Amino acid sequence: MEKLIIEVRMNEAARKEANPHVPYTPDEIVADALACAEAGAAIVHFHARNADGSESNSVDDYRRIVSGIRAKSDVLIHPTLGQFFGGAGPDQRMAHIEALAEEGLAPDMAPLDTGSNNIDMFDWQAKEFVGEGQVYVNTAANLRYMAGRLREWGVRPQLCSWSIPNLRLAGAFLAAGLVPAPAFVTLVLSGERGIMGHPATEAGLRAYLDCMPNEAPEQTIEWSALCGGREIFNLLPMILREGGHVSAGLGDTTYSSLGQPTNADVVRAIAAIARDAGREIATPEEARAMLGKQLQPA
Ligand code: ZN
Repeated sequence: MEKLIIEVRMNEAARKEANPHVPYTPDEIVADALACAEAGAAIVHFHARNADGSESNSVDDYRRIVSGIRAKSDVLIHPTLGQFFGGAGPDQRMAHIEALAEEGLAPDMAPLDTGSNNIDMFDWQAKEFVGEGQVYVNTAANLRYMAGRLREWGVRPQLCSWSIPNLRLAGAFLAAGLVPAPAFVTLVLSGERGIMGHPATEAGLRAYLDCMPNEAPEQTIEWSALCGGREIFNLLPMILREGGHVSAGLGDTTYSSLGQPTNADVVRAIAAIARDAGREIATPEEARAMLGKQLQPA
């Protein structure tokens, strides 16, 4: 079977209070990314953060991270677009990607979440919403514009689907030639509290796989699964068996079943399970080949 691409989701909005190994600063993110690449990650996904853990949208922070990783590794670099909320337009959300592209430091990938979603969190014990007011807006018009800009800069989109309708929109973009094939689609599953993704169960993943767009044979899709708020281990056998890839890390949960692990420890654990199941681990170079020729390092 095809080799396994491991993408490490390094930090998202996770806090050091939960696991002190969650990287915040550019130096911490660079060191962690290099350790993860060493452990078997082909793609590193991160959010720039300030020293206090708050979100950073600083171009300078992204520059330090991307140049620091690229100086020492060929791992695929996948920064977030950030600024989910507050009405930031597409140009604002991609400002750091544009600045880096102009400096010859374009990252390999950037995420496009293919649809708008409520960001609803529900506490099932207290039976109340923890958050219920936020909507993450991604109109098809904005996504079309963003996909076009990414193409200009030679940055490959990673298409994130939070639901089957999101997956259908990804299929429409692929059919319309708005994103390059093969497409890399991440299927979002989420733990109990985050009720905006598919449940992190085999049935939740199966529903995505049963609805995978396949309008034309050239519309090849490589998919990976992520579990927000939950360790990915329970789903790993199915992902490996079905030929998918894995996106996981301390950004999703603390991975306390491994003690107090680093991201590299999580990557090593996934790689070991995959090898036992007969899936070898793709190097960054192999991942580039699998995800398509258009994917050029800057
Ligand atoms: Zn992210």
